[in-house]
Amino acid sequence: MDDLIFFGHKDAPLTTEGNVSQVKKTMDRMAMPYEYLDSPDAIHKRFPVFNREALPSDYVGLVQASSASINVQAAASAFFSAAMKTGRLSVLEKYAVSGLEPSGVPHQNQTYAIYAQSEQDALCIRGRHLILSPGVWADSVLNPLGLHQTRDWKIWQMNYAYWPVKSHDVKIPIWFEFGNLDANDHGTFYGFPPLNFDPSMANRVKMSADYTYDVFDHPAQIHHKVSQRLMKELSGHLSSLLNPQAIHLEQMEDAGTCLYSMSPDGKLVIGRIPTQPCSETFYHGASMCIMESGRAFKYAPLFGRVLVELAIDGKSPYQSDLDIFSPLREGLFN
Ligand SMILES: Cc1cc2nc3c(=O)[nH]c(=O)nc-3n(C[C@H](O)[C@H](O)[C@H](O)COP(=O)(O)OP(=O)(O)OC[C@H]3O[C@@H](n4cnc5c(N)ncnc54)[C@H](O)[C@@H]3O)c2cc1C
Repeated sequence: MDDLIFFGHKDAPLTTEGNVSQVKKTMDRMAMPYEYLDSPDAIHKRFPVFNREALPSDYVGLVQASSASINVQAAASAFFSAAMKTGRLSVLEKYAVSGLEPSGVPHQNQTYAIYAQSEQDALCIRGRHLILSPGVWADSVLNPLGLHQTRDWKIWQMNYAYWPVKSHDVKIPIWFEFGNLDANDHGTFYGFPPLNFDPSMANRVKMSADYTYDVFDHPAQIHHKVSQRLMKELSGHLSSLLNPQAIHLEQMEDAGTCLYSMSPDGKLVIGRIPTQPCSETFYHGASMCIMESGRAFKYAPLFGRVLVELAIDGKSPYQSDLDIFSPLREGLFN
């Protein structure tokens, strides 16, 4: 657990991640406690790691004291070992699903055949229930079901890197900066404090920009090359934003990339699988979570439960919360 600060222009237009006033509204609505920092002086006083000169005069901030970073590797391995303990999990590693066929009585008593291929082997798995969470490769499994993601869905290849900590005396919170002036993501940056998840992380911080110059229409275009243009902008911004006593800002390490599967409206898609775009008829016993738009990891336990409920019972007690993420939204599939 750690402090999280959202800060930026008081009236910044909305980005994919919202803006400070929208975060404030949401926290008020949900009665979540926070501390409001009403000026750049207040932000700098609370967290001297942010240089006063780098904060424009209309900057405000919100500090949420009960935030946290998740140890993703440990969480994933806990899920995996809990599932293994049931004795009912088989994992096919290094197999790609190359075909998917519904059969049986449509919409009632459906079964599914999944055709999977490895370099050496091909096999067919049959089941009564189907849950799909294929990331940016959604078309590879949805096309056989008659759904094609529209061209408005995009893959955003994001960049990140690490910097060594110079001194632990200056507190580094989890932070997100809405430095954008227009209604786009340019000017949004974020970072994490040093984390003790493994020895290599205890003395360095991970930071990034929340915008990209690498936007793709198809997984074949993914190249995993770190964007030099973006890293230059990120490094330049960090060296004015952050206190040089805290971080070795000249020593960027281990830059890498990862992928957002970005829906046309920036909201994820979770629900039953329609038999046609926008159709209220669904495949029986099936559900999906796709186009997660860069924000789904923390919901994995909840989404797992919802996906199972939708696949097995065809409904979930969380339905009213799910409506905003409906797979029937216009513009998702053709
Ligand atoms: C820069 C960045 C920052 C993020 N920050 C946050 C955050 O702060 N909080 C948060 O909650 N989330 C965050 N996320 C989002 C989070 O990482 C994703 O939501 C999550 O990893 C998506 O998991 P997934 O299982 O849906 O997809 P993936 O992890 O992409 O997994 C999909 C899997 O399906 C497999 N697959 C696809 N097609 C086939 C096929 N035909 N055959 C066989 N296998 C197939 C793939 O190999 C892959 O293993 C962030 C993501 C990025 C990139």
